[in-house]
Amino acid sequence: MLTDNFGRQISYLRLAVTDRCNLRCQYCMPAHGIDIVDRKELLTFKEMYRITRVLSELGVNKVRLTGGEPFVRKDFIKFLEMLSFNDKLEEINITTNGVLIVNHIKELEALKVKTINLSIDSLDKANFAKITRRDVFDDVFKTLEALERSTLNLKLNCVVQSDVNTHEIIDFIELTKHKNLAVRFIEEMPFNGKGQRNMKEEWNYNKILNKIKSNYSNITPLISDKSSTSHNFKVQDYKGAFGIIPAFTRTICDDCNRIRITSTGMFKNCLFDNGVFNIRDFIRQGANNDDLKQLFMSIVKQKPKNGFIAEANRNNDVSESMSTIGG
Ligand code: SAM
Repeated sequence: MLTDNFGRQISYLRLAVTDRCNLRCQYCMPAHGIDIVDRKELLTFKEMYRITRVLSELGVNKVRLTGGEPFVRKDFIKFLEMLSFNDKLEEINITTNGVLIVNHIKELEALKVKTINLSIDSLDKANFAKITRRDVFDDVFKTLEALERSTLNLKLNCVVQSDVNTHEIIDFIELTKHKNLAVRFIEEMPFNGKGQRNMKEEWNYNKILNKIKSNYSNITPLISDKSSTSHNFKVQDYKGAFGIIPAFTRTICDDCNRIRITSTGMFKNCLFDNGVFNIRDFIRQGANNDDLKQLFMSIVKQKPKNGFIAEANRNNDVSESMSTIGG
């Protein structure tokens, strides 16, 4: 089992399958994109399968696939099929911008995929285009509606950006009135290629919640898993729910059960650390599965108590894009 020095059991892997993305979200990367790595530096699907298998033998039972945009990587669906054979995995979840998936939903339903986190930061076509620097709102919304009709769980990820989409917070909550989905508002983080957030005004967890509370008097908190990244609520009688993720204020670290592996195989114990060990190089130097197990058991012991300590221990600033880290 993978247990860190604070007694936290690691059971959840976030795996970035690529650093490439078909959008250019303002809060994630510069307009010209990020310096993508050479294809041979990316983990192959076979390597990803192997890493996941070894981790699952150590108690990791949930995997989130992310990127970059996972669906831009060729044969991603085949990889999902492969991963679904891992009998030790209970859940495969995917974070996606939804641009390319509307025709794949039936295939996803047949696999071990349980939840799709669809990133959508505006419900207004023009504002969406401004944020993402791409005119694809209609495709994303079609995906949203198709997912809502599917058997998959649907969560929407909405990064709250000062002066950009804060006026749409209530519109997002209203989407939960008739739709069976969960909207999750995420605090903006500095992982955008510059290392500084764009915000004119700080929109943190409390400010987001207060804004919602000032509009509704009938909100009830929901009971969530201990390791949940979001604090969840529901407007009474609304079909869906909403949550807030204190990604930047980092009040959720005590119950963290997550590790990350970037698309180039960098193992991260925390979103805010700058990588502990390169698994890709270790595998390509000939490590066997027992070597990998020993390695994982030892490197999780370096997991910092929280994201503030991880950030303080970095030897560089937090300027990478989330597309490189895998959000
Ligand atoms: N391309 C996929 C997508 O758009 O969902 C997966 C990768 S994306 C990096 C994963 C998540 O990270 C998205 O929900 C995105 O909104 C979020 N994200 C990216 N940059 C962020 C930032 N600076 N602060 C907060 N969330 C961010």
